[in-house]
Amino acid sequence: MKFGGTSVANIERIRNVAQHVKREVEAGHEVAVVVSAMSGKTNELVAWCADASKLYDKREYDAVVASGEQVTSGLLAIALQEIGIPARSWQGWQIPIRTSDAHGSARIESIEEAGLAAGFARKEVAVIAGFQGIHEASGRLTTLGRGGSDTSAVAIAAAIKADRCDIYTDVDGVYTTDPRIVPKARRLDRVAFEEMLEMASLGAKVLQVRSVEVAMVHKVKTFVRSSFDDPADPKPGTLICDEEDIVEQQVVTGIAFSRDEAQLTLRRVSDKPGVAAAIFVPLAEANINVDMIIQVVSDDAKTTDITFTVPQADFERARTMLEGMRADIGFATLQGANDVVKISAIGIGMRSHAGVAARAFKALADKGINIRAITTSEIKFSVLIDAEYTELAVRTLHTLYGLDKA
Ligand code: ADP
Ligand code: ASP
Ligand code: MG
Repeated sequence: MKFGGTSVANIERIRNVAQHVKREVEAGHEVAVVVSAMSGKTNELVAWCADASKLYDKREYDAVVASGEQVTSGLLAIALQEIGIPARSWQGWQIPIRTSDAHGSARIESIEEAGLAAGFARKEVAVIAGFQGIHEASGRLTTLGRGGSDTSAVAIAAAIKADRCDIYTDVDGVYTTDPRIVPKARRLDRVAFEEMLEMASLGAKVLQVRSVEVAMVHKVKTFVRSSFDDPADPKPGTLICDEEDIVEQQVVTGIAFSRDEAQLTLRRVSDKPGVAAAIFVPLAEANINVDMIIQVVSDDAKTTDITFTVPQADFERARTMLEGMRADIGFATLQGANDVVKISAIGIGMRSHAGVAARAFKALADKGINIRAITTSEIKFSVLIDAEYTELAVRTLHTLYGLDKA
């Protein structure tokens, strides 16, 4: 069982979580619980680091931001003991959850399950601090990237061969799009791993991308459900499963959006072999993730325009780098915009249906929304548009593909 920030936001919510855990224990299950920090806590800790120094040591950042989960794991263990359920807290290093040394976005490499198993044998609930691990060689604390408690939970479920991994959050499942943006969004009973992976990586923050990868690789039966349900009568939520297990397959399953995009355009780039490499190899070496790329076919065979997107956090860095390489690459001007958003439609049904994206281009044009860039792949397409049209565009596509609830 994993409980996110809003589910453990204060002592009252933590007592409610304890009731959910109690129900599962009384049903005869051995239970490991993963908790996030109280909602807002991690943001506060991140801001403190940035306030203390612009170029903070990432190892110390991890020491700071991992503390939120230490608090909630201890508090939930106390709340469980208080209602007669034996429990103890586990920090990542105590288990241990071994990770890479990529501080701030470490990857789980292995999890020792012996200690947890011994606890289960003592009929004790394991309350595990999510989001954190240890890089054993250096002995330093690590964190798994924002939203990483989801990944802690699924990875632990895989390690202890759990029958189920229930991700409790503040919505009662995975919806056709963010229900906070589109009130007509529908809850899905089931979503295929591949679709969930795309939805998560294209902006639906309900699950961290890596948690879906781990669930898919290790075949962890994962549900997304609500901690706000009555602990005595909870609803099952959404099951993330193999595509074969979905009976009614829609062409489009969901719409996702990401505001974490910035656009860069190089004008009048000299059109010669090697120019794309001259731009994108240095960006890749600087760990800047380039997503959409558009190159215009030149009509004078001498110059062309190249547009691409990068995460917002890398916008200024990419811009400075490119300006510095102006002579080597050979371009006239560099333009940038970070008031853009990427809207994506996802569905396994797209594999076998033609013209799915074309319908979206028409619908967006009818609303006067200009498309800056487009990318497509087998089960999704994305368009880059001005951020001010985010909600209109998401709602338009949601209606277009018949996703609105009746
Ligand atoms: P937690 O703190 O429990 O990890 P998060 O805030 O990380 O919760 O994720 C839950 C939020 O994800 C919801 O409140 C919802 O606004 C958002 N969300 C975005 N897209 C979706 C979607 N397709 N289905 C459900 N929730 C979504
Ligand atoms: N508390 C961490 C965060 O806010 C991890 C999580 O909530 O999953 O990113
Ligand atoms: Mg989350």
